[in-house]
Formats: sequence, C-alpha cells, structure tokens
Amino acid sequence: MVFGFYKTIKKKSVSIKDKYNVIVIGAGISGVSAAVKAARSGVSVLLIEQYGFIGGMSTAGMVSPFMKHSVNGETLVRGVFEDLEINMRNINGMIDNGFYASALRTASYNLLIGSRCDVLLNSVIFNVESKDRFVKSIDILSNGKQLSIKGDIFIDTSGDAQLVYLGGFSWAKGDETSGKMQALTLFFRMADIDIQKVTDYASKNKNDFFGWMDYNFDLNKIISIAGFFSNVKKAITEGRLPPEVNYIFFTTLPESGEASFNTSNILGLDGSTSLDLTKAELEGRRQVRRVVELLQDEIPGFENSFLLETAVQVGVRETRRAVGDYIVTGDDIRYGRKFPDAIARGCYGIDIHGQKDEESKMENLPEGAYYEIPRGSIIVRNSENLLVAGRCISATREGHGALRIMPTSAATGEACGAWAALAVKNNKKLREINHKVLQELVAHNISLKN
Ligand SMILES: Cc1cc2nc3c(=O)[nH]c(=O)nc-3n(C[C@H](O)[C@H](O)[C@H](O)COP(=O)(O)OP(=O)(O)OC[C@H]3O[C@@H](n4cnc5c(N)ncnc54)[C@H](O)[C@@H]3O)c2cc1C
Repeated sequence: MVFGFYKTIKKKSVSIKDKYNVIVIGAGISGVSAAVKAARSGVSVLLIEQYGFIGGMSTAGMVSPFMKHSVNGETLVRGVFEDLEINMRNINGMIDNGFYASALRTASYNLLIGSRCDVLLNSVIFNVESKDRFVKSIDILSNGKQLSIKGDIFIDTSGDAQLVYLGGFSWAKGDETSGKMQALTLFFRMADIDIQKVTDYASKNKNDFFGWMDYNFDLNKIISIAGFFSNVKKAITEGRLPPEVNYIFFTTLPESGEASFNTSNILGLDGSTSLDLTKAELEGRRQVRRVVELLQDEIPGFENSFLLETAVQVGVRETRRAVGDYIVTGDDIRYGRKFPDAIARGCYGIDIHGQKDEESKMENLPEGAYYEIPRGSIIVRNSENLLVAGRCISATREGHGALRIMPTSAATGEACGAWAALAVKNNKKLREINHKVLQELVAHNISLKN
C-alpha cells in the first residue's frame, strides 16, 4: 500500500518514485518521527515498513505507557512526539502517559499524511547497495516484486539495524562480554477488571508488591501495579506458572477496567532471528494463558475480567545496534552527561530485563537529572549518508538500556529527520552541517526553557 497526499490518491493511484531525498526503513515511533520531521522540512521522503501497519513495538508489540521523559514537571521530548500525543488525546486514545496501539496507529497516519510523506507498507528491505561510504540504493520485496529505490540519505529505524547490517557497516549486539540480550515479553490486554478492588488489595498487601509503587491511587489517572509475588511464587511451585515469570505488572488504559500487561518473560532467545522469534511467539502465548488464569482465579478484582487481546508480535527489547561516531555509555546516562552537539535528551535510567542467569538492572537517575544525546550517536561510523535512531542507536548495552524507550526513540528519530533534510537542502554531506544549525531545528528537544 502506498499513500501520499489525500488529494493525489483521490485523483489517481500513487506510485512510488525510484529515488527519494530521504528513505526511512521501519515505521516504529522513531521511523515515524524521522519521516515526519524530514517531510515537514520540505524534502521528498519515503517510509518503508514490512508490516501492513505503522508503529513497530508501540503497536505490533502493544507496548504502553511512554516511560519517564520529564524533569521537574517539564517534558524533555516535544516536537513530533508531542504532536503524536495531542493526536491520540483528541481521539480519547491516551490517559496520562498510557495509550492504545490503535490510537498510535491513527495518530501516526495523520502526521505522515499531513507531512506529505510517502509510505510503503507490506514491503521488506532485504538488500543494500553501498559503495565508498555511501548507501546507494536498497532492494525491497513488495507484493512479491523486487524494487530498487535510490536515496540521498538513509535512516535506519528498523529496530534491528537491518540497513546497517545489510550494508556491511559496523554494529554490536547484546552484552559486551556475554552477548546476552534482554528478555522478550508478549504484551496482552485485559478488560472488565475492578480496578478499585485491585488497588484496595494492593494497599492492604504492600509487602507483596514492588517498593517503588505509589499507593495514592487516582482512578482517573494511569495506575501501575507490579508484584503479586506470593501468588506467582505459589503458582510456580504448583506448576501452574512457568518459572520464568517473576511478577505480574500492569498499567491501566483510557477505558475504565482495562489494563495492559508487561508480564511474560521469555528467555534465551535472539529477537532478530526468525526461528527464535517463532519460539518466542509460542512461549509468550503459553505464558499469557497461564497468567490470565491465575489472575481470574486468585486476584480480587479480576473475577469477571477477560483477555481482550495479545500483541501481534512478541516484544523485542534488544538486538543489533549501530556503531556510530560516538557510542553512548552507561556512565553518560548515570552521570547525566551533557554534549555540545546534543540533539535530544532523556531522563530514563538504565533498564535491563535480565536474561537467563542474569540479574535485571534498573538504575533510576536522581529526580531532576537528565542527560543529553550527542549527534555522533545517530550517524553510522564510516558512512556518509546513513543515520540511525530508536533501538538502532549507537550505545553500549547499558546506554541502549536507557535510550531505547519510546519518547527518546521519537526524539532521536526527529533529529535524524532534521539532519537528513538539512544535508539535502544545503547539498552537503551530513558531517558538513554545523551542529548548531541542526540544534536550531530540534531546539524544543534540547533546551529546558523553550
Ligand atoms: C516488552 C517491551 C516493553 C517495553 N516497555 C516500554 C515502556 O513501558 N515504555 C517505553 O517508553 N518503552 C518501552 N519499551 C521500548 C520501546 O517500545 C521500543 O524500544 C521502541 O518502541 C522502539 O522504537 P523503534 O522505532 O526504534 O523500533 P520498532 O518499534 O521496533 O520499529 C521498527 C520497525 O521496523 C520494521 N522493520 C524491521 N525490519 C524491517 C525490514 N527489513 N524492512 C522493513 N521494515 C522493517 C519493523 O516491522 C518495525 O515496525 C518496551 C519494549 C519492549 C519490547
């Protein structure tokens, strides 16, 4: 499916061109942000996605809510991300920082159409032609047909750094020593939960829940509940739950009585191989069924609840990431490092969901602290026209564990779109663009008082 401007669609069927100024691979939140920003800047943009819909982990993976992205009440990520939020709120698809996958899909389409970006769905990139530090063209399989499309600048937002990998550029994967990658999780959504009853139960059994929980529950806002440790432990001992499930974690959604569950815990698999993804799908669905049964049978408030849906695909937190001019480290995050060529900011800490025989890690930043993300982390080393954002960003495993969240992915995506458009419009190589000029285009994402 291709869509360009509505008007054009009405008049005649749209065909894609064989060359674009900017080609973005992968329509997750980082790809959408990159494509919208570049197209709004007035260059021709094509966004390519392997699925028949937009959103990547935010929709296919049904991930919600947006993780922390404000300090002292001030949001760190605005621009395209804020436009997405406004769009979702307008269709009652958001509560606080929680949202429906369907709302994110609709909001993304609205922004893409409004920006006059071309979008090609159901098309998978399988080959990259690169020469002398430049990506020249990509080959995609679209409706069984092979197409080759040229571009001036390419942006890899495929989550798995597919373009980087296929183009023969440098990448890293997993832990620097063990090679381990974070656990996978299949999200699911339940309805007809009596949230009041669950919060009452949690308030009376605080020892059975995580210490970070806030018990000042306001049913008009998003509620996060994580724990049920004793139920989980007992169910594992009795063989009713697989031992990988450590706790039950859910956040509520806009519709009353609905919640989204980030609970299944799939270990020992590589989310960038088809075989392991297949195993993960099966294991994820097995775990979800068991967790739902436990909730319905034992937890006050879940007596009449039911499973609404499971995500289209298992959630993948970590696979390949690019090696860029700069590699963001765990210490850059921990110590809130600032950079003169910053293109985005974040305040979410290092969050690593442990693999088999590996402890999970959650290092929060002190309240009010934030770090900056340098532009060297979104340009691929030894390339002249290849940028990366979102999960593909250049970082150590720890750095990646912080930068991978949706708001930050949107911010790095937007910076890629801005940088690519500047290079095209000024007929310059990416590194020839003065970082201060780029910073002007993403000022809302880098200065606190803006
Ligand atoms: C289980 C889980 C829980 C999480 N919890 C949270 C949370 O609570 N809050 C939060 O803010 N973040 C959370 N995250 C992180 C966040 O969801 C992701 O890191 C973020 O959405 C990544 O966005 P992205 O655009 O970089 O990549 P993705 O969303 O992965 O998008 C990549 C896109 O590229 C497409 N693609 C891949 N290969 C090709 C190809 N060859 N050809 C064409 N298209 C291709 C994919 O289909 C996909 O649409 C979680 C992630 C997971 C997995």
